[in-house]
Amino acid sequence: MEHKLPLAVIIMGPPGSGKGTQSSRLSASMNIPKISTGDILRQVSLGDGPKSEYIRSVIATGGLVSDNILADLIVSRLSDLDCKDGFILDGYPRNIQQATFLGELLLDRNYKLLVIEVIVPDDTLIKRVKGRYLCKNCGTIYNKYFAKPQKDGICDKCGSSEFTYRSDDNELVIKERLKEYNTQTIPVLDYYRQRNLLVSVNGEKTSDEVHEDILRQIARALVNDCN
Ligand code: AMP
Repeated sequence: MEHKLPLAVIIMGPPGSGKGTQSSRLSASMNIPKISTGDILRQVSLGDGPKSEYIRSVIATGGLVSDNILADLIVSRLSDLDCKDGFILDGYPRNIQQATFLGELLLDRNYKLLVIEVIVPDDTLIKRVKGRYLCKNCGTIYNKYFAKPQKDGICDKCGSSEFTYRSDDNELVIKERLKEYNTQTIPVLDYYRQRNLLVSVNGEKTSDEVHEDILRQIARALVNDCN
């Protein structure tokens, strides 16, 4: 998809809404990087020292990592050269403080902002997260209920036969993550809705259909912007 303005797209949705998969697909279609704060934090959590330990423990219980850590991480990542034409944010912002911080950053750097909400009901979310697993090599996400690889046990994308689970994809932690989403992140959706930056897509459709809907919404927003 062609776009002239540097574009910041935020994909929002509860755990299990498919926002990770959709962000990756959008990144490939628009040729701009996907920035997943969850992926970056999981990477940092593998290290030694008190910061990694702290992040590990917050992720394990389904809470939110401190805004200061996220602010440093976002400032640093957005300064990378590959973000200059735009980027897709997956998992940030997750509360109002993060949203206002990001707003100031984007204003400074002159990005156009668009926020896409992927809507999925709670009962579907729990099933999706419980069934989720990923390729250990390339990170492609599968689901034992909804989206297995075409050849059983072989990753469609890279051919690897090694898979893994996210340790925070268990029912207890999922419920905590959903609680965090409802209390901290739903107000962020209202914040963007009030500023006319939010569009919604139905996340219960197939992955292809959701992707198409997202592309359509972005194209529409960019056309409206030119008029
Ligand atoms: P995700 O992969 O987006 O589901 O994120 C996994 C976990 O990382 C979350 O449950 C949080 O503990 C942490 N995390 C990711 N993004 C943020 C954020 N923007 N603010 C605080 N914590 C975050």
